[in-house]
Amino acid sequence: MGSAVEFLIVGQGLAGTALAWELIWRGRDVLVVDAGEAVTSSKIAAGLVTPITGQRLALGWRVDEMLAAARPYYERVAVELGAGFFHDRIVRRIFRTAAEVEVWGRRRDDPARQAHIACGWRPEVGAWGGCDFHGGHLDCAGYLAASRAAFERRGCFWQAELDPEEASAWPARRVIFCQGFAGSRHPFFSWISWRAAKGEILTIRTSGLDAGMILSAGQWLVPLEAPAGPGDAAAQWARTGSSYDWETLDNRPTAEVRAGLERGLAALHPEPAGVVAHQAAVRPIIRESRALIGLHPVREKLGFFNGLGSKGSLHAPFFARQLAAHLVDGAPIEPEADVRRNC
Ligand SMILES: Cc1cc2nc3c(=O)[nH]c(=O)nc-3n(C[C@H](O)[C@H](O)[C@H](O)COP(=O)(O)OP(=O)(O)OC[C@H]3O[C@@H](n4cnc5c(N)ncnc54)[C@H](O)[C@@H]3O)c2cc1C
Repeated sequence: MGSAVEFLIVGQGLAGTALAWELIWRGRDVLVVDAGEAVTSSKIAAGLVTPITGQRLALGWRVDEMLAAARPYYERVAVELGAGFFHDRIVRRIFRTAAEVEVWGRRRDDPARQAHIACGWRPEVGAWGGCDFHGGHLDCAGYLAASRAAFERRGCFWQAELDPEEASAWPARRVIFCQGFAGSRHPFFSWISWRAAKGEILTIRTSGLDAGMILSAGQWLVPLEAPAGPGDAAAQWARTGSSYDWETLDNRPTAEVRAGLERGLAALHPEPAGVVAHQAAVRPIIRESRALIGLHPVREKLGFFNGLGSKGSLHAPFFARQLAAHLVDGAPIEPEADVRRNC
């Protein structure tokens, strides 16, 4: 059995990392335990923050509140880490059909969307025109690795896979499970119904991309901040994806999905591109991408932070702050997000 700690956090993905920082900033005693797997949902996530999404050009759920929490959070973490991992980006939406143009024509004057539009109409883009939104990109792998290193320097990180029953018996005031999809097998939170989805993503080497712009047309393409290798000045690295599969929930990349992503990439960016990596992981989806947080209804020592779905980069800071305020100050959890009200 491990040493006593106030808060034991099981899992250092986007959920556990944000919760750990929020508790550390409140002066609490924290230990973060993570299995250290090479491929996890958070490590391979594209990190896109897009306020308006999908074929229906829908405004993201509570997007203004989420952004209002995310921006200052990533700025404060950048100070902690001595490097910023969240970058403002333009998201260029390229329309593919007359129907999409028609939907956008009805939606673009909606006052709620105005603050998110950088340019409402770009007739020169593609065959059907496009538009530009204000969005962002989180370098998820870089942010997680730098946070882990910072936790290690503080002596509050331990690489280990902890059995949930063993973790539940830890000499801690609270044990908060931030396990991503592995949390679907947790014995004490077994009433939660999951709708997880596997996603596959390609990392490519190419050229000719606008480094400040994410392209989106069914599939998206995001240039990476990291420079290309030595002697490779003109080359750029980028990522493209991602697929959804609700049936086969494993981390194995498939040839069929790769072929589809390569076809989509060729339509989005006609320059030559080589695939550098092809990865897959399972997104922890519970209710769309609306996280559940809070304490177990009976075993009050045990907490839960999961269900970030496809929106971990944008939503994790908001829910981490709310959960930390609850754990430390007893602040209420909004009913919609409270794991106790969903049992
Ligand atoms: C292909 C793909 C693309 C995506 N693109 C985006 C995107 O563009 N934008 C966006 O916002 N989101 C995106 N996502 C979703 C995003 O990745 C998730 O919302 C996020 O990863 C969820 O984070 P998490 O911390 O809840 O879970 P995870 O990332 O799964 O982290 C859980 C951690 O807990 C550890 N763990 C689990 N059980 C134990 C245990 N018993 N002991 C110790 N450690 C344990 C795991 O090893 C892991 O490190 C994408 C996901 C995928 C798969």
